[in-house]
Amino acid sequence: MASSAVAPLPRPPKQLRILVASSEAHPLIKTGGLADVAASLPIALRALGEDARLVLPGYPAAMRQLRNPQPRGALVLAGYRRPIGLIQGLHPETELPIYLIDAPEYFAREGNPYSDPTGRDWGDNADRFMLFCRALVLLARGQGPIDWQPDVFHGNDWQTGLAPWLLNDGAGLPARVFTIHNLAYQGLFDRATFDRLRLPPAAWSISGLEFHQRLSFIKGGILCSERVNTVSPTYADEVRTPRFGCGLDGLLRKLGGRFCGILNGIDDRVWNPASDPLIAQNYDAERLVLKVENKLAVQRALGLPRHEEALVLGYIGRLVEQKGVDLILAILPELLKDPLLQVLILAAGEPHLEQALLDLAAAHSRQLGVFIGYDERLAHQIEAGCDAFLMPSRFEPCGLNQLYSLRYGTPPIVHRTGGLADTVIPATDEHLRAGRATGFVFNEPRPEALFAAIDQARRLYRTDPPAWRRLILTGMAQDFSWTQSAQRYLRLYHEALADRLSPASDP
Ligand code: ADP
Repeated sequence: MASSAVAPLPRPPKQLRILVASSEAHPLIKTGGLADVAASLPIALRALGEDARLVLPGYPAAMRQLRNPQPRGALVLAGYRRPIGLIQGLHPETELPIYLIDAPEYFAREGNPYSDPTGRDWGDNADRFMLFCRALVLLARGQGPIDWQPDVFHGNDWQTGLAPWLLNDGAGLPARVFTIHNLAYQGLFDRATFDRLRLPPAAWSISGLEFHQRLSFIKGGILCSERVNTVSPTYADEVRTPRFGCGLDGLLRKLGGRFCGILNGIDDRVWNPASDPLIAQNYDAERLVLKVENKLAVQRALGLPRHEEALVLGYIGRLVEQKGVDLILAILPELLKDPLLQVLILAAGEPHLEQALLDLAAAHSRQLGVFIGYDERLAHQIEAGCDAFLMPSRFEPCGLNQLYSLRYGTPPIVHRTGGLADTVIPATDEHLRAGRATGFVFNEPRPEALFAAIDQARRLYRTDPPAWRRLILTGMAQDFSWTQSAQRYLRLYHEALADRLSPASDP
């Protein structure tokens, strides 16, 4: 559990310089949990006294929001026709230094960082993130236009995966840590793309970047980093099995002790019901009665009748198979036979799921509120206003919404997988009696199992208000602060540095 104590770190020899590389970071650009982590972790590391900095592609939204932006000069990359610029600035709300790779030909596109307005991946994504990786390598080698070289390079997900691989040879290189936020996204491209990217032909091998006749970006990060981790202990176990390993389970098993799981935390500045500026009414454990104001506000925001007594269930997330929205769709007609139950959904993704939700909402306009799109404010309002939160993901590397739900006194109803299994304590009789329960957990990703868990929540909510209140308060008291997780990352950085310096244990 996140609240278990971390053994104190030995005093680091000096302040560590850490370059965190990501393809998104809140609030500059966000499609999912990676963005929250990519900003929160370096901020937490700086609070621990380390010199952590963040680097992102220079998307227009990021350029606009960067505070105090300063052009720092050109990144000289062989084979690129146009100059690539480096812009240095600050995170909009903190003192975190952020570098943006200014390459308009690749990144000056509005909207989603990975796909065009119709939702299709940009055809040149391999070229875009290859360029990003080459720029990262220059910064990691201390060869960019800044007088700063990291001790540790921390890559995140496939978009950064070729950087550790390109940092394999040479002296004075930083230690490499690579974090997998979701193994299902691997950055796979065909042989023609591999040739176009000017990668050495020898890299096309099973011990290199080739993966079933395709180029794999993520393999570069896994193969060539001193430490690799994913974002929860249970998901770390799961991905070492064929069922969850997406074909990479063997490689991950081979890493042995160099692979682990570290839970994400919550950024308290952004997700705190006591100070959240995006919700109708602030509240905390001492002022829980005020939470109902948020229920009435979010019912209105989604066009449903304001109804204090109704049990309101929420869902926020990407509409993809992973998230199990089809399970929710399968049970909604039955669930909505209960006139005292409402469901609020904020989501975007696969068009057939969007349409199915909209059709159902049209048929149940007093009980089902659906907003298709991405809306940060509404996400906060749903977390604060609902009574319980649905997260039936088929797999979930960590999951952030269940953590936000716990923090907002909105008990999560989750499938027992990945980070959901690690963070939600099921409302069994025993846990309820002991005052340990924080949510509802079901074992199989099937509609009947989800329905049974919702039914259990509904019964407790309606028949035992004191037990429900205890459930809420126990959830709100859980410690998912970034400080704990950042200390674990710090330990990983030191382990990676020790390995980098000892050739015997090179990967
Ligand atoms: P994933 O990274 O797989 O999408 P997580 O639960 O780790 O899932 O993180 C999802 C993050 O994205 C949360 O901060 C969540 O609030 C946010 N989010 C997802 N979909 C939407 C949406 N449609 N509108 C606003 N925020 C969203």
